[in-house]
Amino acid sequence: MVVKPKIRGFLCVTAHPDGCAVNVAEQIEYVKKDGQVNGGPKKVLVIGASTGYGLSSRIVAAFGSGADTLGVFFERPSDKGRPASAGWYNSVAFEKEAAAAGLYAKSLNGDAFSDEMKAKTVEAIKADLGQVDCVIYSLASPRRTDPKDGAVYKSVLKPIGAPFTAKSVDTDKEEVIEVSLDPATEQDIADTTKVMGGEDWQLWMDALKEGGVLAEGCKSIAYSYIGPEVTFPIYRNGTIGKAKEDLEATAGKLREQGFDAYVSINKAVVTQASSAIPVVPLYVSILFKVMKEQGLHEGCIEQIVRLFQEKLYHGGAAVLDDEGRLRVDDWEMKPEIQEGVKAVWPGIDTATLKSASDFGGYQEEFLRLFGFGLPGVDYEKDVEIEVPLPSGGA
Ligand code: NAD
Repeated sequence: MVVKPKIRGFLCVTAHPDGCAVNVAEQIEYVKKDGQVNGGPKKVLVIGASTGYGLSSRIVAAFGSGADTLGVFFERPSDKGRPASAGWYNSVAFEKEAAAAGLYAKSLNGDAFSDEMKAKTVEAIKADLGQVDCVIYSLASPRRTDPKDGAVYKSVLKPIGAPFTAKSVDTDKEEVIEVSLDPATEQDIADTTKVMGGEDWQLWMDALKEGGVLAEGCKSIAYSYIGPEVTFPIYRNGTIGKAKEDLEATAGKLREQGFDAYVSINKAVVTQASSAIPVVPLYVSILFKVMKEQGLHEGCIEQIVRLFQEKLYHGGAAVLDDEGRLRVDDWEMKPEIQEGVKAVWPGIDTATLKSASDFGGYQEEFLRLFGFGLPGVDYEKDVEIEVPLPSGGA
């Protein structure tokens, strides 16, 4: 069928298989050229491997370090004439490229929060890889079913303590708008922490250790974000920030238990997860303009290359900040970048959205997440939407 973007708010409900394949191929090309990692990992488990930071981590591990990779994710295959989700097509493309390069790549599609998925993963590692030497934890989810009691927790994006009103962008209407958000309840904070905090990362590490599938010195990295003051009320000081504090504290706890575990603070990029956060897309649009002007622009793939090459596998100990965190948001947080954003923020409105920010670049990247707007793809052509994962995905 001919697949066109169908955007519903901050989601695109269609995805283009050929476009997703080009997106993956472009990241692989970048890594082959600029992303080689000396002394990098060789057997890698990526939890949340199909889009965004997790997909880029899988690509850097495989094509920058020659690693065999096992990817866990929750994606929708094509059903009843509906295209599959972008992460499905990304993973199909990744597996094909990895196989062509002689690398093992298997994927497990299902709920990473469940005990069943953890057990399946342990079995797959035992059967195919023996042990892994790196575990990337890159889940972003709006909900989690607790494996112990089956209760479902939902994460919310709310400020804490007081209502918050700020500029945001209506990406459909291309307008700068004002959003007002009510403060979270204690329950909201606890639920968001349950979903996006560190509990599940700890459960994964326990299950992998118990299963005997962690190699001596295996590293584990989870991803977090801090960001600038303009987003503090909705991000760092909001419900999601509380969850991230918990995730970061879990890294410390894991190290006390003998795991080589860290949180990496990454920069703001366009992903399915970040486009759902109020205020952030407007900030990202301005940030992109300032970082591009200063020659410092990065997407997921550039970030993960720098994380692996300079912070994790550079021939010495992990490069950490005073609070024990890896930082690849260092360029985003440079004073000259943040000053550039601050100079634009107060005055930006609908009339200046496109000139004062890189809103065009934001929208392009958003569409690319779903395989649209990629070079060399004929979007008028019929494409096969029902494509299986070469590894089966189960
Ligand atoms: P994303 O939406 O692109 O990817 C999320 C991944 O999680 C996908 O592979 C998805 O399939 C998987 N997933 C979601 N629910 C699942 C479930 N129940 N079981 C199995 N897999 C599931 O998100 P992203 O932006 O790449 O976020 C990844 C991590 O990076 C998050 O911790 C996020 O907070 C962090 N981070 C993101 C940004 C940003 O700007 N996007 C910045 C810094 C840190």
